[in-house]
Amino acid sequence: MIYQGVLTKMQTEFLEPIQYYLVFENDFIHMNQLLNKPIEMKLVGHQCLSCGLDRPIYRQGFCKTCFFDKPVAGDWIMRPELSTAHLGKEDRDLEYEKKVQLQPHIVYLANSSNVKVGVTRKSQVPTRWIDQGAHEAIEIVEVPNRYLAGITEVALKDYVADKTNWRNMLKNDVTDENLLEWRQNLKQHIPEEAKDYFIENNSETHLHFPVVQYPLKPKSLNLEKQISYAGNLVGIKGQYLIFEDQTVFNVRANEGLVIELNV
Ligand SMILES: [Zn+2]
Repeated sequence: MIYQGVLTKMQTEFLEPIQYYLVFENDFIHMNQLLNKPIEMKLVGHQCLSCGLDRPIYRQGFCKTCFFDKPVAGDWIMRPELSTAHLGKEDRDLEYEKKVQLQPHIVYLANSSNVKVGVTRKSQVPTRWIDQGAHEAIEIVEVPNRYLAGITEVALKDYVADKTNWRNMLKNDVTDENLLEWRQNLKQHIPEEAKDYFIENNSETHLHFPVVQYPLKPKSLNLEKQISYAGNLVGIKGQYLIFEDQTVFNVRANEGLVIELNV
């Protein structure tokens, strides 16, 4: 069966194990069903996720023009503390920014290779944790806008990592941590403006990924250079496809590529 479409991050379902779907314009591919099977991917073009044109992808699935112009790629996306919609102040498009920023946000701890702090819209829990390949996670505060979540994250970064190691995550080189204890220890460092939003009663969420075989030495597939690749799919974790020969492919980092998928 040959499918063709533009890559966007896989949609997921929080089940045991997590279910993954690749969504193309005319097809919906249940990736878990392809485990232990050979698949082939071929790069056939590019399609910017914003303007739809066949242009080189610059970042986050967008061409360079869209990345620097469109409200969906504002700096506050990656750096929530730069959010200004709560002040009525526009970055690129105030209506859009109000819609996204002025809604409940969560500051959380997730453990994918080490414990890290992160920010997400409440509606993106637990999707965000799945996308990061975290095997456990917990919410710290629930705040009414993105700015408050951003400044909380910045304050906590002094005491906990805000990055993870994707190789360790894929190798499943992980330890279980007591996130409740971490959360309790970090509580004192939450900034004044967000202190009242601490979630008092909470428990860890555990996530199970569909992986048959973890890679010992993951090597990242660059489809732009290699153009085509074939291998046996042996796992999916985070937004990575894991193959038997230890090749890994980060679907999210390749958004905007038009590929042909042969399964
Ligand atoms: Zn574009």
